[in-house]
Amino acid sequence: MEEAPVPGLYLHIPFCRSRCAYCDFYSVTDTGLIPRYLDALLKELEAYRDEFTSFDTVYLGGGTPSLLSIAQIGALMDTIRQVFTIVPDAETTIEVNPADWDREALGEVHGLGINRLSIGIQSLDDQELLLLGRRHDRKQALRTLEDALHAGFTNIGIDLIYGLPGQTLQGWFASLRQALTFSPAHLSCYELEIKDGTPLGRRYKKGEFSRPPEETQRDFFMRTSEFLEESGYIHYEVSNFAMDMDHASRHNQKYWDHTPYLGVGPSAHSFRDRRRWWNHGALDRYLLDLEGDRLPIDDAETLDDEQLGMEALFLGLRTKQGIDLERYRRQYGFDLMEDKALLLKELCASGLIEIFDGRLRPTRAGMAVADSLAML
Ligand code: SF4
Repeated sequence: MEEAPVPGLYLHIPFCRSRCAYCDFYSVTDTGLIPRYLDALLKELEAYRDEFTSFDTVYLGGGTPSLLSIAQIGALMDTIRQVFTIVPDAETTIEVNPADWDREALGEVHGLGINRLSIGIQSLDDQELLLLGRRHDRKQALRTLEDALHAGFTNIGIDLIYGLPGQTLQGWFASLRQALTFSPAHLSCYELEIKDGTPLGRRYKKGEFSRPPEETQRDFFMRTSEFLEESGYIHYEVSNFAMDMDHASRHNQKYWDHTPYLGVGPSAHSFRDRRRWWNHGALDRYLLDLEGDRLPIDDAETLDDEQLGMEALFLGLRTKQGIDLERYRRQYGFDLMEDKALLLKELCASGLIEIFDGRLRPTRAGMAVADSLAML
């Protein structure tokens, strides 16, 4: 019998010093609310004491968790360890904005038992950082990387964005190559999405710049994947690369394979035993609920085999390891090789997927169109 997977814990920190030009995530800039928020968060954690007992990943994401003081993070980590069992070799990640912490602060964060950093660098070109509305510059980004290594972090992830207006492949590779000089354990490379309602979206609507054509975007994706794999990284998910599978994000993999997870904070999602539930998105509602001794749950759904199977297919086809066909049949009751025989044959013939060693997995070209692949 397979051992039950250990759940992951996500804590959402919905504060940002300022809003980036491309971002449509919910966050607030009133950092004066942080102490009140942390009190509410502790209450929410306490409420799950009996339902979730242990975790092997803890992820502080946002927003901008590095806006919390070291003392606040320390207190939060202490509470987590008092309420739950955190297994000894747990992966504990915090997202960091390069404008926030110096070498000393990073050393203190490391001392709190946080063993993985996800640093939101996005670009190493000052003009691009300005366009994105980031509040750090190239110099701060490079210094944070040096400081993080010096502070003792060996598991460092760098987030980068490509496909910016006016960006050339040469410009993108300059950022990427420089990032590699720090030998990060992990890289997330995202294509810029220009979303309606964001400052960048409004500028785009006014015709201030154009998007790179689809073919160019595909070029960015394919060349990045080739380059990073040649440099020794594993392209293990559409946007994610790891120096080896021990450094692939253990936490994020839980979202992709239906391992249970608890998410706390506004808009955080949780999953357990087919049930998914999620919190209210707005901070004021979240605070009022917890201060009134209510859980801030907005809604919930229970997934049947078909829904779970569709999700597993969608998420599995975004990963290099793909889908174990026999396990999929046992778990969800669908034999993909039989039910989708013709389609799979066509996708194999067009070089988008391959079937190898009992697994259905996307090729690099398939990963480039992963969202449409999942419409299977
Ligand atoms: S991209 Fe990150 S730092 Fe920027 S506004 Fe969005 S959540 Fe905040």
